[in-house]
Amino acid sequence: MLEVKNLYVNYGAIKALIDINLVVNEGEIVTLIGANGAGKSTTLRAISRLVNPVKGQIVYKGQDIMRLRPDRMVSLGIAHSPEGRRVLARQTVLTNLELGAYTRSDRLGIKADIERQFLIFPRLGERRHQLAGTLSGGEQQMLAIARAVMSRPKLLLLDEPSLGLAPQIVREIFSVIRQLHEEEVTILLVEQNARLALDNAHRGYVLEAGQLTLTGNASELINDERVKKAYLG
Ligand code: ATP
Repeated sequence: MLEVKNLYVNYGAIKALIDINLVVNEGEIVTLIGANGAGKSTTLRAISRLVNPVKGQIVYKGQDIMRLRPDRMVSLGIAHSPEGRRVLARQTVLTNLELGAYTRSDRLGIKADIERQFLIFPRLGERRHQLAGTLSGGEQQMLAIARAVMSRPKLLLLDEPSLGLAPQIVREIFSVIRQLHEEEVTILLVEQNARLALDNAHRGYVLEAGQLTLTGNASELINDERVKKAYLG
């Protein structure tokens, strides 16, 4: 479904990604793990066209998308759920969700999907008229995911869904991720919590200082001595 080939991204003099090659097959949950600053978010941002790579190729369903505009990504079926604090703080929960569906014109379908998000995340339903900036960290994370899902993506790029959240909320969020996967959404998951990520993914890639150093099935990576030592404590 997605193939990233020989991808390089710089921020000025900083080489954030160096020769990244990765594949996400339809129906998979693939995770990208690595330390702070390894380049995980940058990889997602390159795929959703929020940063411009220096060179490389990003092929989605056979089409090279590397020079397309970011808004085209959503209509192609790619949605990006950024770290939770990136919701539109001055807009209500409801408006955030409506904006997530901006590429759609089926008003009734959008309404039904919003109600569905409120069933999945009852806290968001209770706070539908609250400004997103006043939600707790966990609620903002839920909103970031729900907003991305509103575009009915085929491929969901999920950035750090567990960041800073209490264990109970993390469990709720991962149960939603598994549910989305059962509904045939393919997922590329960036996580600092490597155990959580590998427990929920089919395959994984390890990113170190902008380069991919290891890849394999999640079960192989969990048992890999290098992964254990560096990421599983
Ligand atoms: P974290 O887990 O801490 O979010 P990450 O693996 O997602 O880290 P990135 O956010 O992709 O890492 O950052 C990769 C590198 O690029 C880091 O060295 C970071 O400081 C740098 N970087 C990221 N965004 C920018 C930017 N907008 N301008 C300059 N440097 C940046």
